[in-house]
Amino acid sequence: MWKIAAGGIAIECATFAPLPSELSDFDVLRGGALRERYAFAERHRDVEFVPLLQAHAVPGGVLRRSVYAALKQEFLAGLAASAPWDGVYLDMHGAMAVAGLDDAEADFIRAVRAAVGPNCLISASYDLHGNLSAAVLEALDLITAYRTAPHEDAAETRVRAFQLLLHCLRAGRRPQKAFLPIPALLSGERTMTLVEPGKSVYAEVARVSAEEALLDASLLVGFTWADQARSQAAAVALAWDADAAQSAARRLAGAYWDARHAFGFAVPTGTVDACVSQALASTASTVFLSDSGDNVTAGAAGDVPFMLERLLAQGAPRTLYAGMADAAAVAACFRAGVGARLDLRLGGALDPVHGRPLPVTGLVQGLHERGRAGRQAILRVDRVDVILTERRLAFTTLAQFSDLGLDPLAYRIVCLKLGYLFPDFQRIAPEAIMAFSPGAVDARPETLPFHNIQRPMYPFDRDFDWSPDPKIL
Ligand SMILES: [Zn+2]
Repeated sequence: MWKIAAGGIAIECATFAPLPSELSDFDVLRGGALRERYAFAERHRDVEFVPLLQAHAVPGGVLRRSVYAALKQEFLAGLAASAPWDGVYLDMHGAMAVAGLDDAEADFIRAVRAAVGPNCLISASYDLHGNLSAAVLEALDLITAYRTAPHEDAAETRVRAFQLLLHCLRAGRRPQKAFLPIPALLSGERTMTLVEPGKSVYAEVARVSAEEALLDASLLVGFTWADQARSQAAAVALAWDADAAQSAARRLAGAYWDARHAFGFAVPTGTVDACVSQALASTASTVFLSDSGDNVTAGAAGDVPFMLERLLAQGAPRTLYAGMADAAAVAACFRAGVGARLDLRLGGALDPVHGRPLPVTGLVQGLHERGRAGRQAILRVDRVDVILTERRLAFTTLAQFSDLGLDPLAYRIVCLKLGYLFPDFQRIAPEAIMAFSPGAVDARPETLPFHNIQRPMYPFDRDFDWSPDPKIL
């Protein structure tokens, strides 16, 4: 029997975001809920599977040290309580930033290694937006990352990380790990895998990974909005043989590097006013407009009202604005009730650096209790329906709208606090535009004040040569 522990901490932290991430931003899974997440691990007769704790959060600002310390402590205590272990599966993101720690994942995974000892095998799954470091790779034995962005293979990646672990336990061997950091730091909006060149580059990841000599291969684009020394793209390859691992890492890194100039935005972009004008002038039945600087899925606060102000100022036609995190405004709407008209100052509280409260007069159209997602209110201001949310919330699926009785396609403009459109919207959007709006995750990271990333780094530096030199760790 292989005794395997599982869990981890998964959060993506934008270091430019003024709002710290708190325990309340996490879903912390234990017991039955965690067993459900890892149902794939239960069906092996040679495995004694022990899920300990997994905490995953909506992307946000830098995580409070005490919150991180408490989650880490609980996980380590779980390991200590049932030691010894044959394997550990770590369910991570890879772009966690903790106040006072340079490399939070390295801190966590090293502590896990220290707890389980050198003979235990450790396997991790990462988001491809994780910033992988040599320190992390040295502390673990196996790692695999998502291969799609927008992410449609999160569950599949967790299964793969677990299968890799089991495969190596059964084989009684540790693989060679080739690590190749790439001096490029491109945003998720430029590196989607649905469009070229991301599509071809990621097809190569799957192809290389399937080769007989390889156990697995990953290409991480990294997370742009983290001003840390480890922020950059990276290729990783796992094989029994060091040469095979190095050669695969070199091929993947080369494919990414060679394509670097071709990574662009998948949709037209522009300033807020230009994009709003373009949406107003469009003949499309509905235009999806991304408020990208305040993109909640990249860690922004989601309460910068700048685009709402510009939409109202330009006399927007029937528009859906999703959403605005403002607990006080939601409370006021609930107090007033459906049909009430009230004066409110919206947003600007969570991210006062990039936004200031916007005074509006609106009519309460709907009130909804949504469990863990919190209370939501729909407020009509002129012809704009603003979804106010009690908690920071990204609107990424159509179900979130139908749940509120709303049909995005019934509106002329749908303004979302996203960068790239998530698959549900991509499938139905007659037209999409992305605005370079103000916020903690400006879609042009070259304009942000980075101090800690390695240089030279594309696209911050453009005119330099690089030759891939993978290391075995
Ligand atoms: Zn991601």
